Amino acid sequence: MRQRILKGIAAAPGISIGKVFLFDSQEVGQITKKPILPEDAAAEIKRFREALLRTKQEISKIRDKISREIGSEHGEIFSAHLLVLEDTMLIDEVVTRVKKENLSTDYIFHDVLKKYIKAFSKIDDEYLRERVSDINDVGKRILKNLSGVKHVAMPQLKEPSIVIAYDLSPSDTASMHKETVTAFATDIGGRTSHTAIMAKSLEIPAVVGLEEVTSVVKNGDFIIVDGNKGIVILHPTQEAIRAYELEKKGFEEYERSLLGLRDLPAETTDNHRVVIAANIELPEEVPSIIYHGAHGIGLYRTEYFYMNRPDLPTEEEHYEAYKEVAQKMAPHSVVIRTLDLGGDKFLSHLEVPQEMNPFLGWRAIRFCLARPDIFKKQLRAILRASVHGKLKLMYPMISGLEELRQANALLNEAREELKKKNVAFDEKMEIGAMIEVPSAAMISDLLAKEVDFFSIGTNDLIQYSIAVDRVNEKIAYLYEPAHPGVLRLIKNIIDNGHKAGIWVGMCGEMAGDPELTLLLLGLGLDEFSTSPAIIPQIKKIIRTTSLAYAKEVAEKALSLSTGKEVEEFTRAKFKELFPGLEVK
Ligand code: PEP
Ligand code: MG
Repeated sequence: MRQRILKGIAAAPGISIGKVFLFDSQEVGQITKKPILPEDAAAEIKRFREALLRTKQEISKIRDKISREIGSEHGEIFSAHLLVLEDTMLIDEVVTRVKKENLSTDYIFHDVLKKYIKAFSKIDDEYLRERVSDINDVGKRILKNLSGVKHVAMPQLKEPSIVIAYDLSPSDTASMHKETVTAFATDIGGRTSHTAIMAKSLEIPAVVGLEEVTSVVKNGDFIIVDGNKGIVILHPTQEAIRAYELEKKGFEEYERSLLGLRDLPAETTDNHRVVIAANIELPEEVPSIIYHGAHGIGLYRTEYFYMNRPDLPTEEEHYEAYKEVAQKMAPHSVVIRTLDLGGDKFLSHLEVPQEMNPFLGWRAIRFCLARPDIFKKQLRAILRASVHGKLKLMYPMISGLEELRQANALLNEAREELKKKNVAFDEKMEIGAMIEVPSAAMISDLLAKEVDFFSIGTNDLIQYSIAVDRVNEKIAYLYEPAHPGVLRLIKNIIDNGHKAGIWVGMCGEMAGDPELTLLLLGLGLDEFSTSPAIIPQIKKIIRTTSLAYAKEVAEKALSLSTGKEVEEFTRAKFKELFPGLEVK
């Protein structure tokens, strides 16, 4: 078969060559034998025809794109699917039965489909038998359009595979092991989705936003996933495989060579020290971050503790987890971020209403302030664990002073409750706010007076300030960390933090972009917190430059007018420092 290259968005670095496991994360919703009133039959039939039309539009779009990009012979498979949608016998049978039997379209259509599949499977003609898979595929699409979809959990794989899926939730990704999932690729998603971030943490190469990858690969296909360039190669030639094997070896050797810096501080040639810390989602990641030379944890995303389980964690479970991380990281500090649910992270067992704009909705601190029962359990556990190491506490998504004060009031209640029971905690534990909402960035002078530190959450700050959904591949081109608007906000936050005498870190993905390290250093950032694998590179950059030079770079970057100009400029500076080193 001919080699094909599919282009997407590089989500997690690394290369994997292997066989596909096609995972259908979206199963057809539940189909029940639901009776309907005779007068509702017309509306049911209308719903059926609309689902047929929607399915037709979806398939035509895929056919056209594949014909255009890969070749018309591949697009033709989808023309066969369209024929199923025009099968009048099948459609008429559904319509007649809905009218006669007074049952919902979903049920009748499913029943008719099963009959068709059974009949075709028995036919003694290879061509017609092959049409069973067309009928199956189209039938599933129609049913998804009729009854909606439900998310199914990722199964545990028995042998190493590359997972291909329409989408993967952050909790699906959290349950992956790099021994069995050697890479993954999805149709949708953005570079700073929590699925992409999780892949980086687990060091699983990933490409997202490929749009049609699930329509062109089959179970067992041989592919290459290149998480550095954001491409997937289907049916690679022997030459491509050899070239990638070499590249993979080179990449791994380069990573190993940087590990010599592990125990050295992140200090510039003119003796300015910053902290390089790591972001973690699960306590099991601690050995990996120590291995990569992290001097602390700048962001512990505790919401993963609530996922992949049927109930909420108890205070004791929280406490044990935080205590373990604090002890393992001591004397370095650990910034525990309180629960940040919502956006693209949900719990199946918590009844949270579906929202039109979940990233702008009942998320993070907003959810916690509305559910003090859940929030205070976590606050007490963090306070109790604070005696076992150097813990710091940080609230996500603060948008104004009232929110910060309300959160602190609940923290004070938690402190009082512990005092009454004579339970020890670190009275001086630092309390910080994530600055990831533009309003908070603008009033960072006011917020700085009421916290001990700031951590800039660029993943959200960019999404909210440029109004670009961080998980939507269609507008990924607008997601520009180097946008002058974003840079001005970052400068404002750092300057205001320093004026008030507090330290300012960054824990969004921008902190782990080697081409932007000089710029951030020059802006005065005190702590870079990033995914573990990139830490040695960031440390190398900092140890190779002077603060004075970084300040010049930052000043020049701030004078430029577009994100592209800034990107080109910082890339050129990066190449000057590290000639021949390709990062992206
Ligand atoms: C951020 O928004 O930059 C951040 C670090 O938090 P999260 O990615 O978990 O939203
Ligand atoms: Mg955030």
